[in-house]
Amino acid sequence: MARNDEPRNSPERDNSRRTPLERRRFLRTLGALLAGGSLLAVAGAAGRRTSAARGDAYWQIDPGKCTQCGRCETHCVLPVSAVKCFHANRVCGYCDLCGGYYRSNVKELNTAAENLMCPTGAIARRYVEEPYFEYTIDEALCNGCGKCVKGCTSFGNGSLYLQINRDLCTDCNACRIADVCPSDAISRVPVSHPYNLKE
Ligand code: SF4
Ligand code: SF4
Ligand code: SF4
Repeated sequence: MARNDEPRNSPERDNSRRTPLERRRFLRTLGALLAGGSLLAVAGAAGRRTSAARGDAYWQIDPGKCTQCGRCETHCVLPVSAVKCFHANRVCGYCDLCGGYYRSNVKELNTAAENLMCPTGAIARRYVEEPYFEYTIDEALCNGCGKCVKGCTSFGNGSLYLQINRDLCTDCNACRIADVCPSDAISRVPVSHPYNLKE
C-alpha cells in the first residue's frame, strides 16, 4: 500500500506524520497493548497460584481507598513487601514532568538521585517523542513504599497504584498490613479476581 493510502490509525503509519492528537491516541494504544501483555502474565501467574490457595479469597488493596501511608512497605511479614507498584498505561499521560517520577519542586528534569521520587531506583523513564515519556516499574526493586503513587495521585492521572503481588504474597490468615491499614483499603477478594486493576 502506498504511504498516502495508509489508514490514519495504521501502526505502520510514519509517527512523525501524525497530528499531536493522533500521536497521543497512538501512544495510548501502544500502552494498552503493552499493558495487555502484562495483564496476561499477571493472570497466568494468578492462575498458577489459585490451585495452591488455602481459601476462596486473597488479600488485595483497593486503590480507591489507599492513602499511601507507607505501612505497606514496613508491615508485610516478608523481608521485602509483597506489595508492589503497578502502572496503568492506559491512564498514564506519558508526562514529561511526572509527579510519580520526580520529586516536587525539582530544579532540573534529569536523573540525578536527588530529583527522583523512588528511593530504590525502581522506575525507568524512556523518551518516546516530544513531549511524551514512558515509565516502567522494575518490580524486583520496588518495596511498596507508595511514594511514587502519592506523587502521581497528587499531581498526575493516578496511573501508578499499589497491589499485593499474588506470586509473592504468602496469603497469611490475617494480613499484617490489613491489621494496621488506616484507611481499611485491604480486604479479601475472590480468587477469580485476584487484582483490583485500573486497566
Ligand atoms: S497500609 Fe493501607 S493506606 Fe497504607 S499504603 Fe498500604 S493499602 Fe495504602
Ligand atoms: S517509589 Fe516506592 S512504590 Fe514507587 S516504584 Fe519506587 S519503591 Fe516502588
Ligand atoms: S498477606 Fe502476608 S505476605 Fe501477603 S501482603 Fe499481607 S502480610 Fe504480606
